[in-house]
This record gives sequence, structure tokens and C-alpha cells, in this order.
Amino acid sequence: MHPSRQCRTTRVLFSLACAFTTLAGVVGAEPKTNGFAVADFLLAPLRVHLLTATNEPAIHTQLSSNDVVRILGKVNRVWAQAGVTFYLESLRTEAASNPTNYAQRAKEDERTTLLSLRPRHSLATNCFHVFYLHQIQPNGIYFNDQGIFVKDTARLRPVAGGLDEPLPRVTAHELGHALTLPHRQDVTNLLASGMSGGWLNTQEIAQARTAAQQHPWVEPAAALLKRTEDLQRKGGVDEVRELRRRLSFVPLAGDAGLGR
Ligand SMILES: [Zn+2]
Repeated sequence: MHPSRQCRTTRVLFSLACAFTTLAGVVGAEPKTNGFAVADFLLAPLRVHLLTATNEPAIHTQLSSNDVVRILGKVNRVWAQAGVTFYLESLRTEAASNPTNYAQRAKEDERTTLLSLRPRHSLATNCFHVFYLHQIQPNGIYFNDQGIFVKDTARLRPVAGGLDEPLPRVTAHELGHALTLPHRQDVTNLLASGMSGGWLNTQEIAQARTAAQQHPWVEPAAALLKRTEDLQRKGGVDEVRELRRRLSFVPLAGDAGLGR
């Protein structure tokens, strides 16, 4: 790399680091586990689907785009422990496919039924998918590489220092499965079942980051910052705006805490 370019990259990294510094600072009974600089964050695209169904209230989600923004903000404060940020690739409010007789079909074969609700035209293989709907038996469920389903009626048992509402916690938990994490039933842990805790331990952080990096569409913030700088030089205004939008999902230092 040309020295002056390297220097400018360093300056950009430094100024962003100053803006976001110490993303750590999670409070509560467990030790801090977040020591990631902004440049070390991994940025993962997340496509959020709000499923609608005119004649199937059990499918039709009550969530709005404002809810999604709030939920994702809290998800990212949880995942800041691991230096992982899920940016909103897009938000799709869309009619579920195959809605007929949903409740009965879900009782008989939950997996096939839920997967059949996904509108084919909005499926992609270069992002994580979360589908919100009104009612399923569990709070949330992850199907290997095929999507996460979360019900907007999710309920959890509160634990000390846990998240203050169920949906960000359920979403963050299922994203943990998507990053290969198994259950760990310590009550304050993100991967405990049915609880509101959000903690990750050192081993989980390492495993989740390794898993995230297996996806070619998960990009380190440092690479994204470098791309931003290159595009700025070429005058790619729209592309720069998009890359900055992605970076804006990295929580600010003042937002530290488990999704409160
Ligand atoms: Zn689980």
C-alpha cells in the first residue's frame, strides 16, 4: 500500500475509534468481555422480514419498522461483546407464502411449515434472515442457513442484568445459533433457553467470530473503512453513503449495556 494511503487509512480508523471508543463497559455481575476496537468489528448483513397474512392472524406480525430499529439496536449492544454488528441489509414487509391453514400445519410439521412461509423472491444467500411473525410454539427457532423465525409474542423469564424486553434477546439468541453457538444453561447467558440474560463468555466470543468470518459476506470494519476511503477518492457518493450506513450500526460507546 502507498504510504500516504496507509496514513489516511490510519487517520480514518483513529477518528472513528475516537468516536466510538470503548464499546465495552457492559454492566452487571459478569466480567467485561468486550475489548474490541471499531476496526476489529465484523459487520454482518441482516435481512429482516415482517410477515403479513390477511386471513391468518397467527402469522400476521404486529411489529413495525420502528420496532425493528429498536430491536436491532439492542441486538447489536449484546453482540458488541463479541465485536459483531448486524446491519440492516433491508427490511421487507411482505405477505407470507402459503399462509393457508398455518396453525394446523405448524402443529404437524413446524419446520416445513415455517420454511414454506418465506417469500421466495426475497431469499438470498449472502445475508442472515430473520422472519418475524405473530405465533409459533417456541419463542424463536433457527433453521440451519435457512433463516431465523421469531414470534412477536415472545415471553422470557427475567434474570438480573438481563435485557429489558424479549424480542431483542430472542433475536440475539437465535443469531448466536446462526453463529454456531449451542445452548449453555447458565441463567445469565445469551445461549440459555427462555431467560433474558445476554452474556457471552470468551470461548463463545471466539467461536462466534470464527463462524462469522466463514461467510464471505461478513466484512471486517477495517476493510469496510478502507473501501470507504477508496470510494471517496473516486467520488462514489452513493456507495460511500451505504458503507457509512452499515458502520452506523456499530453501537456508540455511550450505548454500552445489554440492550437496555
Ligand atoms: Zn436456542
